[in-house]
Amino acid sequence: MLTGRLYAEEGQHAEAAKAYEHAVEADIAFVPEILPPLLNSYARSQQMEHAEHFMRDILERYHGISPVLALTRLYQQRDGERTAVEFLTSQLRQRPSVRGLMALIDATMDKMEGEARENFLILRDLTKKLLEGQAMYRCSRCGFGAKAHHWQCPSCKNWSTIRPIHGVANE
Ligand SMILES: [Zn+2]
Repeated sequence: MLTGRLYAEEGQHAEAAKAYEHAVEADIAFVPEILPPLLNSYARSQQMEHAEHFMRDILERYHGISPVLALTRLYQQRDGERTAVEFLTSQLRQRPSVRGLMALIDATMDKMEGEARENFLILRDLTKKLLEGQAMYRCSRCGFGAKAHHWQCPSCKNWSTIRPIHGVANE
């Protein structure tokens, strides 16, 4: 993870992407942390085709929502809204997720008009509130809940014990 960041700071984005890929292979639990910088490095080194293959492969082995959201954004930019929404809805049937629902509402919003749009705005607001109260990470030693990832648990001070929580309202 650190190696990736160092390469990225030096502008060596292909090398950074490789380092981030190794970090995913070392511990797949950290996909939610690694995907944003990894995707940034893919984009800057123009490896978006490889990015799709790598994330499709992660999708097979990892059951959280992060790779689904990342692929949805990739399809949105490359193939347009329709392909992206088709992919997202097919994935949401297999892995129900509030964050996925949020992405679906955002992607569908533009097509809504009048009363339907008003109702959609309420739904969007409620979904957002539901996510705001959720801890996304938990310490496997002491049970400390956190909204962001910490390498060291702020409560029991152990290292690498904070993991993403998997569930409908989390990862
Ligand atoms: Zn702890």
